[in-house]
Amino acid sequence: PAPAHIRALAAYQAGKPISELAREFGLDPAKIVKLASNENPLGVPDSARAAMAQAAADLGRYPDPNGFELKAVLAGHYGVPAEWITLGNGSNDILELAARAFLEPGKSAVYSQYAFAVYRLATQAAGARHIMVPARDYGHDLDAMLAAIQADTQVLFIANPNNPTGTFRPAAEVERFLEGVHAAHGERVVVVLDEAYNEFLAPELRVDSAAWVRRFPNLIVSRTFSKAYGLAGLRLGFAMAQPRATDLLNRVRQPFNTNSMAQAAAIAALRDREFLERSYEVNRAGYRQLTEGLAALGLEFVPSFGNFVLTRVGDAARINLELLKRGVIVRPVVGDGLPEFLRISIGLPEENAIFLAALKAVLSA
Ligand code: PMP
Repeated sequence: PAPAHIRALAAYQAGKPISELAREFGLDPAKIVKLASNENPLGVPDSARAAMAQAAADLGRYPDPNGFELKAVLAGHYGVPAEWITLGNGSNDILELAARAFLEPGKSAVYSQYAFAVYRLATQAAGARHIMVPARDYGHDLDAMLAAIQADTQVLFIANPNNPTGTFRPAAEVERFLEGVHAAHGERVVVVLDEAYNEFLAPELRVDSAAWVRRFPNLIVSRTFSKAYGLAGLRLGFAMAQPRATDLLNRVRQPFNTNSMAQAAAIAALRDREFLERSYEVNRAGYRQLTEGLAALGLEFVPSFGNFVLTRVGDAARINLELLKRGVIVRPVVGDGLPEFLRISIGLPEENAIFLAALKAVLSA
């Protein structure tokens, strides 16, 4: 029999594929609008496509287990040594590696209410207990999180911006928090700062988190190529941390956890500043369009710093089903304790318009 903490786990609830939903609801799959997984509506950058075509010629060989070239490019980009970088199969893998490296039965992890769901899964899978700190205005209450740290706490997860709420704590607040954790607990408590949506922040809000990594030996910063870089299907994320933490992450990492196509595509995407800028602009315009549309329908939403918006619709399960029947896929966040809310990923202008029209029809039906 599996250990008790594994038997107590509930698997991550993933949505059905588009083809299956199309069959179920009798829809044309080409006409379905999917705004459910915080993907980049621009799709894969052309630069990454070209890099993948080249990498494809060599798929008979294993990928570089240490991602030498990608780490070198990341190191140059962020101003940390390549030895401080760990590659992951998506940043979910980084979160999992951190849980596996630092948690065990008898230890605890601290995270916020309404935080990214994988923190709970990774903590439970490691057999550790969790301490969930009540949210403040749907976001992380950093003072309360610092105060919640117990003698058995080894890991603290923060998402900034957070998914599914889109909330963001400014750099000064996070820095004060990092100073507080390090002053009170030294290297005993590892802070995992998950910045999956960092690239969508307005320039004046962007954070030099590499500088924090240089300063705090107990900090792991996690980033991804799934969102602004448009490479969600390739599964590539990475961590920046000082050598002691990086060494431990690498001890539990599978040698070939990132594949050759992903490594090649990520290098190209990282150098493609034009694509990143376009992602940012499309997101900004889409956010304005969606939030104005929601407001016009009289719906509340949580101001978002990511590429999605959380809005209160009431009976979210019913409205979600009605939207599906009209070919629009969004994300109910029932499992996260927000049963009246739907999370809408920001799409292209025409996708946002189709969603808003469908929602209007459902609400007035
Ligand atoms: N962190 C946060 C806050 C996220 O929302 C997501 C994606 N939903 C991830 C990490 C993981 O993304 P990926 O594994 O694709 O990098």
